[in-house]
Amino acid sequence: MRDQPPLPAVSFQSVTRRYGPVIAVSGVTLDIAKGEFFALLGSSGSGKTTLLMLLAGFDQPTEGRVMMSGTSVSELPPHRRSIGVVFQNYALFPHMTAAQNVAYPLKMRGVGRSEREERVKAALSLVNLTERGASYPSQMSGGQQQRVALARSLVFGPELLLMDEPLGALDRRLRDQMQQELKRIQRELGITVIYVTHDQSEAMAMANRIGIMAGGKLLQVADPETIYTAPSSHFVARFIGECSILRVASLDNGRAFEIAGARQSLPSPAIAPFDIVVRPEKVSVHSVNDARSGEAFSVPATIREVTYLGPGWRVELQLSDGQLLLANIMRGDLLAGELEPGKSVIARWASASVTTLPTEGSS
Ligand code: ADP
Ligand code: MG
Repeated sequence: MRDQPPLPAVSFQSVTRRYGPVIAVSGVTLDIAKGEFFALLGSSGSGKTTLLMLLAGFDQPTEGRVMMSGTSVSELPPHRRSIGVVFQNYALFPHMTAAQNVAYPLKMRGVGRSEREERVKAALSLVNLTERGASYPSQMSGGQQQRVALARSLVFGPELLLMDEPLGALDRRLRDQMQQELKRIQRELGITVIYVTHDQSEAMAMANRIGIMAGGKLLQVADPETIYTAPSSHFVARFIGECSILRVASLDNGRAFEIAGARQSLPSPAIAPFDIVVRPEKVSVHSVNDARSGEAFSVPATIREVTYLGPGWRVELQLSDGQLLLANIMRGDLLAGELEPGKSVIARWASASVTTLPTEGSS
């Protein structure tokens, strides 16, 4: 027994959910460890909510099964699953005070009055609403209402907290603040969180691991840095931040490539045909007279468009083969003051900063 790995908090095993002809979730297999902050990221209609509902027990899979700590939960009704849920629309009871709302799940579970009061107090304190227990939802801001909803979902001590776009209705500043608080609360409680969002920066900022969904499928699961630096598909590369995806010619059995007459070796060989992914912040722009390339890859380009961004400039470059390359240039970079459309320049990036992807439609 001692040598067995810990059971995942949540395990989706080949889970599919069909609604008539619509496949909302398609063959999802995924383990989430105890204490993880896991973000499910995807655009609207990608199947995120359906996956949460299958876990929460509000819906049943058409195929496959859902396990919690090694036990199949398919037969368990929602209130027996030890799961707290927070939705975008807070769904508070309007005729109850904040404290009564938070007490509700405890009442449902038959917790006695004095313990109830103690737990409600602790839960309201956890979300920094100690003073607002007697307020009604209509007397509270959107952010405060969402804190009450969070307290209500945590008050009975669930093993798992599911959140479905919980901050979507809040403005930017409040959202940033709540993101930090949610992370703090998750750390303090050590609870497992599955957090659904369509906002990639939110997923990056909060999660230990991100699962990217599209068309009901889980496309890639990894930590934020891996998702950003080593996307597994064109879709993921484009979905997470800006990038240029460039067609290249493979050389030396995939150990190097050529683009617009320039050649670069790859740190590890790729299987042809492949494309390369270049993030704009990895690209620098230099004068054509600047020959100091060192270890970096250099390719001639023409400036097409320059946009001022505040911290720097976004430069759209065109290579001699017609392909477009984006560069984000910081203040102080060479040429920053003399970026002009039509100008011939050298684009440069460190050899290690490109990743390769199989050319789409090639496999
Ligand atoms: P997301 O939360 O990522 O926006 P959903 O899980 O809500 O996506 O939906 C995934 C797909 O399943 C969508 O095409 C949606 O229209 C469909 N769908 C979801 N629920 C139902 C339902 N009860 N009946 C029919 N189709 C549904
Ligand atoms: Mg949804």
